[in-house]
Amino acid sequence: MSSQLALQQVSVSYGDFPAAVDVSFSLEKGQIGCLLGPSGCGKTTLLRAIAGFEQVTAGTITLNGETISRAGAQLPPERRRVGMVFQDFALFPHLSVQRNIGFGLDAMNREARAQRVREMLALVELEHYANAYPHELSGGQQQRVALARALAPNPEILLLDEPFSSLDSELREQLASEVRELLKRNGVTAILVTHDQNEAFAMADQIALMRQGQVVQLDTPYNLYHNPRSEFVAEFIGQGTIITVSVNASGALNNGLGILDVRDRPWQAGETLRLLVRPDDIEYDELSALSLPVVSKSFRGAHYLYELALPDGQKVPCLTPSHVAINPGESLPVRFNLQHVVVFDDSPSETTPIR
Ligand code: ATP
Repeated sequence: MSSQLALQQVSVSYGDFPAAVDVSFSLEKGQIGCLLGPSGCGKTTLLRAIAGFEQVTAGTITLNGETISRAGAQLPPERRRVGMVFQDFALFPHLSVQRNIGFGLDAMNREARAQRVREMLALVELEHYANAYPHELSGGQQQRVALARALAPNPEILLLDEPFSSLDSELREQLASEVRELLKRNGVTAILVTHDQNEAFAMADQIALMRQGQVVQLDTPYNLYHNPRSEFVAEFIGQGTIITVSVNASGALNNGLGILDVRDRPWQAGETLRLLVRPDDIEYDELSALSLPVVSKSFRGAHYLYELALPDGQKVPCLTPSHVAINPGESLPVRFNLQHVVVFDDSPSETTPIR
């Protein structure tokens, strides 16, 4: 199957500043991708390059088989068949919902346009709001109008630029799942830009995690969480702490936390390793001989998130059901689940996992 969207070694610079460097990824028709990463890593720059608002300085962008960007040659934005949904929705306040949705359909005759607007209203379930004005709608409803407007001209791809960030945090994840459902039902290919990993997880099939203009890992949400390929990814995605430990030849950790699986790599006695410890890697176990002092705890509804101190002073997170209530200063009996823990060798930053 050929890709609906393909970026091949794309770079974008502002003057001398390389905002996106050598980025490659592709999406099949109907797939939802996400550009995720900290502020300033180049997400919006790439989205704008796909939309045609920024020129690429190297590489190519192809949409449904057609090259739409390469150095020195760009198809103008209005000829790209790209739909966009912006952070603030950018609805026209003085136009009704149906006129907002019909705004980009000038090329159609009156009847075809009215028909398309009706289809879009049904798609986002806002049939009863056709004559309402944006200020009469909730944030979530406004967002659905913005989606309907972007989808009305039947774009080859939908670009979503932080589309949930102006909404309440509780609403965000729910809407992200609803929008995913809607796009999937209609086979829409889309790319989302966000710095919020929960949104990315709720929406995307594939996530490009970016840092300083480069994609550091292109993967499924599951793999980014469970198989991070660098400490940067491990620390950016999910909660967790990286601790330094040493092992003996059979993999027993120096701090009494347990024994690492040898698998195909025998440990060198005294070898120093770095372990990614997620809150769910440490389990509350009242029968455990190991008890760690509680440094702090925070209530998370169904759970408490504890911070525990290891004998050498390093701190690790631990999630327990919220009926396990132990106060700071007291100790929590725990067991380390080392089976799935990610192990990095001991170089300071861009390490690769060795297990
Ligand atoms: P955020 O999450 O904060 O929106 P981002 O990942 O979308 O960040 P970009 O907006 O793509 O990041 O910016 C990437 C880098 O390029 C930043 O260092 C930014 O300062 C720089 N930059 C963005 N737009 C311009 C511009 N028009 N001229 C010069 N530099 C720019």
